[in-house]
Amino acid sequence: MTPSTTLPTPAPDATSTRTVDTAQRAQIISEALPYLRRWRGQTVVIKYGGAAMTEDALKAAVMGDVALLHYVGVKVVVVHGGGNEISQMCRQLGIEPKFVDGMRVTDPETMRVTEMVMGQIGKNIAQLLGDKGAPAVGLSGKDGALLRARKFKDESSEADWGLVGEVEKVEAGLLHTLAQQGFVPVVTPVAPGHDGETYNVNADTAAGAIAVALGAAKLLLLTDVAGIFRDFSDKSSLIDALEARQAETLIADGAVSKGMIPKVRCCMEAVRGGVGRAHIVDGRTPHAILTELFTDTGCGTMITRDQ
Ligand code: ADP
Ligand code: MG
Repeated sequence: MTPSTTLPTPAPDATSTRTVDTAQRAQIISEALPYLRRWRGQTVVIKYGGAAMTEDALKAAVMGDVALLHYVGVKVVVVHGGGNEISQMCRQLGIEPKFVDGMRVTDPETMRVTEMVMGQIGKNIAQLLGDKGAPAVGLSGKDGALLRARKFKDESSEADWGLVGEVEKVEAGLLHTLAQQGFVPVVTPVAPGHDGETYNVNADTAAGAIAVALGAAKLLLLTDVAGIFRDFSDKSSLIDALEARQAETLIADGAVSKGMIPKVRCCMEAVRGGVGRAHIVDGRTPHAILTELFTDTGCGTMITRDQ
């Protein structure tokens, strides 16, 4: 990891709350050993979005978690969202955002705003990771032929989402090169089609396809809910773990709707495509990433392969 070593090492964060004494701290770090052994050298794809991307304290915690994973030898790939930022910019420009089944209806003007806003978000994340000592590179599906998209169509619906794309192909070469050279790739889910168009790809879907192409051990989707609820109006119905076909049933039954549909679909496709596990985790909880990777209980909802 050559680039990391060229950066100055910052002093430990003097502002962090010291809640444990030194002996406890040493004990906690030593308990991380089995997890460090398990994850070293593995690929983890993280879909980053929601409150974890907009609230400063949460953002700093995520950047620290990603940098930590990078330093302990995990190959992390970040795929970011930015729906709220796109909506905000659209409104400023007098375009009213419109969604069908959790996906933004994207006309050519909205697509231009999307590419601009999303590109900037990706570069800012790369900068923040660099500040934490994990040099990162922001790239979109257009760079290194990373993603190829085609127009998204839902067979069961008459809806037309315009320039919303689905991933047709992932060319992971550039991601491997970046990881080998010690850089964390930060992917902006915008992708070219065969028709010269630029498509807006749902970030969850892009993260899932990239996780499959990389043979990732884990796919983590950070969101603003605790996980998948059997009944979204009943907060005691949070699902701890389920198999892909059970997840499919939740969509068919209508228990899962709106933005949770692409999340659940991409988790199912990821585990069926060889990804070890897919998790929908609460990005409003500080250090949700470390909780998922470095504890046995984990957090959120885990989707596993059909048994
Ligand atoms: P993100 O910005 O993280 O992609 P989305 O808003 O696209 O989040 O998707 C998450 C939303 O899905 C939740 O806020 C919730 O409104 C909705 N949702 C629908 N059904 C469920 C369910 N069964 N369990 C959890 N969330 C659900
Ligand atoms: Mg969403």
